[in-house]
Amino acid sequence: MITCTNCDTPQFLQITQSRIYFENGEIINEISESYECTLCGSTGQYVYDDDRDEEAVTGDVELTTERPKFA
Ligand SMILES: [Zn+2]
Repeated sequence: MITCTNCDTPQFLQITQSRIYFENGEIINEISESYECTLCGSTGQYVYDDDRDEEAVTGDVELTTERPKFA
């Protein structure tokens, strides 16, 4: 789950840009999503690399497996 580090909730996050990269025309090997928090204006990016099975976030968002504090 992607969470805004400022607001500590994913509730106001909006995907502003989403890209999926293909390999050999069919396999998704990378997903890139840009997020913007509509509450505080923070922005961040989430990238998933299927080749390495890695997730990464940059900017004012964070990746969490926990349930949000404010649902
Ligand atoms: Zn926020």
